[in-house]
Amino acid sequence: MRKFPLDFSEEKNKEKLLEILKINVCNSCLGRQWGMIGHGLTNAERGKILRDYASKLTKTELKEPETCELCNNFFKDGINRIVDKIVEKIQGVEFDTFLIGTVVSDELEKKQEALWEKIGVDDVETIKSEINREVGKRIEKLTKKRFNLRNPDITIVIDLNTNAIRTQIKSLYIYGKYQKLVRGIPQTKWICSKCKGKGCIYCKGEGKLYKTSIQEIIEAPLLKVTKSKNSSFHAAGREDVDARNLDWRPFVIELIKPLKRKIKLKDLEKKINKSKKVRVKGLKIIDNGKEIIRKLKTERVDKTYLVDVEFENRIDEKLLKNLKNVTREIIIQKTPLRVIHRRADKIRKRRVKKISYKLIGSRRMQFKIRAESGLYIKELITGDNGRTQPNVSDLINNKVKKLSLDVIKIHSG
Ligand SMILES: [Zn+2]
Ligand SMILES: [Zn+2]
Repeated sequence: MRKFPLDFSEEKNKEKLLEILKINVCNSCLGRQWGMIGHGLTNAERGKILRDYASKLTKTELKEPETCELCNNFFKDGINRIVDKIVEKIQGVEFDTFLIGTVVSDELEKKQEALWEKIGVDDVETIKSEINREVGKRIEKLTKKRFNLRNPDITIVIDLNTNAIRTQIKSLYIYGKYQKLVRGIPQTKWICSKCKGKGCIYCKGEGKLYKTSIQEIIEAPLLKVTKSKNSSFHAAGREDVDARNLDWRPFVIELIKPLKRKIKLKDLEKKINKSKKVRVKGLKIIDNGKEIIRKLKTERVDKTYLVDVEFENRIDEKLLKNLKNVTREIIIQKTPLRVIHRRADKIRKRRVKKISYKLIGSRRMQFKIRAESGLYIKELITGDNGRTQPNVSDLINNKVKKLSLDVIKIHSG
């Protein structure tokens, strides 16, 4: 690496220096034109050394001008105003790491370009890069937080066109596992599709179709302590609204724009579990939220269900041996009638790995079924007007009156 101060026996350095000094530039703007050489000095310090050298060259005492024609004294005063504004803006936001980004004004960009036209771009640093670094250093000093390029808790954007400060707060991702102990609640908030959440006759003014959901029960105390705007809920699959989930299902809840990130998850776990509808365990903050969500969404694991079925007619025990067929053949399912209004009409093929059953009345049976991820269990039992083949109802020649469903095992790993 070349060192600073420069070797001024190099003619091109001398020429470049004198060319720059034809306009009034501050030491920062002067030093920045060799900003990529060496390190340990600020551009202002480089500029000072260069100006002293130029004074010797020209045998006149060159002083730093009152007003810099390039940055308009941004590095002398403007920067302090910006830093004050940032500190005010991020008050009340809890973070450990931050990043600064700058949108340079069009005017500044043009002036920088014009200078580079004359002196070339060898060794120069951009004004944007210097602003980010210098503001970053001051914010580090004032807040005792760390500058971090990769995955900062907060990104602060300085827009020099409008002098506005914008912040982007990283979501807080919490991983955990849940059980659903009651029937009749969906996994995520179910916004009314007719009014998009505003409230209408269809949803009785609620804006949503169910009073609560697993997401809402879990998010309530989390939104409160983190002062987040809202949440987004991602789980490894989902059970039907009317099904329970008695095994632990992994999920990630994403808290959006949290003002607090340091929270005691043990206490929150207890609060959530008071609901009696949903239980959670193993809550922990994770850094690689997006990655884990992708994994949860793509992992395909078998599930075992317990299905309680009431048939319309007496069960003919002679036909029960036919049930072996569901594990011998691939189950072919057209999109169920109950969801066809919101899903494409497609064909799904899945296997049933195991089926066992128990008679618990002349018309009632309990099935235990292990199936591949994605198999529509209800339709496997009812046949869905022939849209699922083979199916239990046809095999034992009996129509289903009603059924209830529990997920009892999620076969992860
Ligand atoms: Zn300047
Ligand atoms: Zn509505």
